Amino acid sequence: MSEPTPVFFHEVQLEFKPLYEWAFGERIAHPETTARAESILSALSAEERKFRIVAPKSVPLGAIRKLHNYQLLTLYNTATQLPQGTTFYPSVFPKSEQARPDPTNIQHAGCFCFDSGTPLNAMTLEAASWSAACAHEAATYLRRKQARSTYALSRPPGHHATSKHFGGYSYFNNAAIAARYLRRHGRVAVLDIDFHHGNGTQQLFYNDPNVLFVSIHGDPREFYPYFSGHPNECGKGRGDGFNLNLPLPGACDGQEYMRVLREHAIPTIQNFGPEYLVISAGHDTYAKDPIGHFALEEADFDELGETLGRLGYPTVIVQEGGYCTRLLGRIVRIFLTGFQRGQERDPLSHKI
Ligand SMILES: [Zn+2]
Repeated sequence: MSEPTPVFFHEVQLEFKPLYEWAFGERIAHPETTARAESILSALSAEERKFRIVAPKSVPLGAIRKLHNYQLLTLYNTATQLPQGTTFYPSVFPKSEQARPDPTNIQHAGCFCFDSGTPLNAMTLEAASWSAACAHEAATYLRRKQARSTYALSRPPGHHATSKHFGGYSYFNNAAIAARYLRRHGRVAVLDIDFHHGNGTQQLFYNDPNVLFVSIHGDPREFYPYFSGHPNECGKGRGDGFNLNLPLPGACDGQEYMRVLREHAIPTIQNFGPEYLVISAGHDTYAKDPIGHFALEEADFDELGETLGRLGYPTVIVQEGGYCTRLLGRIVRIFLTGFQRGQERDPLSHKI
């Protein structure tokens, strides 16, 4: 039995509590609740021989500023001045070239945001910073060979956050922070298995030939984020050929999902030959997820985890979505346990 997988989490991540969001004109209960992280913590804490909960060190400001524009950071700082109990929902999203966004004015938040579901309050910055810290610390552990794989219980999630914009419940791009750190030490493949396309991660590495981005997600012609995740987005400049989008139709089941993973995603990663793998692990592909539209079952997460573990790469797993709160912890545990088992088995050959 190998060492327990370090699980990075800081309790301040639970201080951010978005109450509701505007979805298609309706005010609905916000799906990105603290109960998500609590469900995962509870499930992993019960398996002491397999998982070890570790509080991360704070994230260096430089790690965030390498990826995110300072105006975005200024806006989050502005939000810390909001009175307790006040949550700001951007409702004006200027597109004019003449717009002069002022990130010290919370009313300008719409200049830095691309949807109406991602609010700001006084605790957003702190919780998002600790969420980023989990991913950063998970990457440093991996780099120092303190573990073969690490898991960042990042919440709020991150893969929709771009260099200049927040949205999709994401404020800092946690997986990108891990990848950017590891990239200094070797080539990195990011595999995004969240139901939604990781538009932020794609944008952040779109020109970078040293970071491969591969994503399997709901077809953006029908599903959020709509404006990215299409197959013809392949990278740009020196990064051309290092971005692979694999959109799938709604109701996709585990069999079809695993076929696409095995026939397209994995060979692309293996041909790239990364030193490190970062998995943007969303679990909203689960059949019972209230937001996702795939039909993966528990056994599929076990197989998915084992298959990815068998790739044999030093891996940072970063939590993204997953909104079936009642069962989320269980699904994450099944996925991570499958991954551990896969890492202990013989690595998959180059061609599978
Ligand atoms: Zn998602």
